[in-house]
Amino acid sequence: MQEILTKPLDVPSDGNASGHMFDENDLSVLQGILQSGVLNVTRGSVAKQLEAQLGEKMGFRHVHCCNSGTAAVHAAIAALDLEPGTEVITTPLTDFGGVAPILWQGCIPVFADIDPHNLIITAEAIRAVLSDRTGAIIVTHLFGNAAGIDYILDLARTRGLPVIEDCAQAIGTLDRGRQVGDLGDLACFSMQQTKQISTGEGGFVASNNPKLAARVHQFMNKSRNYDDPWPDHHFLSMNFRMTELQAAVALPQLARIDEMTDARRAAAAVLDDRLARIPGLTPITCAPQVKHSYWRYAFHVDPGSAGMNNTSLGAALKKVGISNGPRYQSPAMEWTVMRERKTFGNSGYPFTLARPEALDYDPARWPGLAAGQNSVLVLPWTARHTPELSGQIADMIELSLHEFGTAGA
Ligand SMILES: *Cc1c(COP(=O)(O)O)cnc(C)c1O
Repeated sequence: MQEILTKPLDVPSDGNASGHMFDENDLSVLQGILQSGVLNVTRGSVAKQLEAQLGEKMGFRHVHCCNSGTAAVHAAIAALDLEPGTEVITTPLTDFGGVAPILWQGCIPVFADIDPHNLIITAEAIRAVLSDRTGAIIVTHLFGNAAGIDYILDLARTRGLPVIEDCAQAIGTLDRGRQVGDLGDLACFSMQQTKQISTGEGGFVASNNPKLAARVHQFMNKSRNYDDPWPDHHFLSMNFRMTELQAAVALPQLARIDEMTDARRAAAAVLDDRLARIPGLTPITCAPQVKHSYWRYAFHVDPGSAGMNNTSLGAALKKVGISNGPRYQSPAMEWTVMRERKTFGNSGYPFTLARPEALDYDPARWPGLAAGQNSVLVLPWTARHTPELSGQIADMIELSLHEFGTAGA
């Protein structure tokens, strides 16, 4: 047993070529751009082509590319042009890039609790933290799963609140056959190294709302209309443009996104099936109308019946080459920037504008978060994962439980 457990599995990594599908053809496209010398999207045509194809493939009328998912979220919030001190409701379990832009725009992140099972915020939890200062809601489709968007949109619409969908982990996630993100007002995507389409760094904002999309585009482009005879800068904005080189790396991946997403799903299905038969382990399930895109593969570990918890099982799996993250991320309320209000000099802005209740970070206020994080184990997942590898991962999980958990007792 010990011997098998110490022989590491060869698991593809999203951090290098083993987890990606770049090929010779991609290289020749890049070469062509370098030869043309046009690397900038305002002069080039590749990023424009990418935007058109993303819109067509994913069902959005407007797509604007940018240089990161963080920039995408930033541009989406900026497009709403909220007054400083406005509260933006979001999840406590997300990437820094889902939260920092709220503060950059002078607004206050307010964290709704999450469903401990899928770790996604719910309409009920959002309702519990609504206030007369709420100005927007951000819904994060975590791990490539989909949030219960209908209930959240119902709530938002009755309050007249815009909804930003953070789809940074959800390229290829389908809800009733449609790419998630198209029901809210703005959808933000990332093409960072580990995401389903990777340009190293990169992102885009998609929308069916022409006014908001135009504002997003302006915000990312120095709020300058490059076709004007006397260009002006119309409001405080950024340069968040992506380069033609990044766009050229994304284009061929978009052409094979269905194939890549299917590969992620096929491998995940095997693990779902195997884990469901191991006492104490529960794969994260999604709603029947949702097709998960498996940016990550997440499951729960119940120490009562497994005899190991998420941390100890995670440590055992790391020893056999299966990288993983128990808890996924630290909750946003625990980040130093939030606790110590490390923002603009010593001003504490924009926290200085907040209601005291909005800054009450007592963990007892997020029971769903605590429960979910105490049991979840998250495995990096790639389009290079195969059903066969999933079987081997399941074997390793079973062996670990036999060795260290109750399964062997
Ligand atoms: C990756 C990610 C971001 C930020 O994207 P970057 O491209 O890394 O800046 C934002 N939100 C979520 C949920 C993410 O997973």
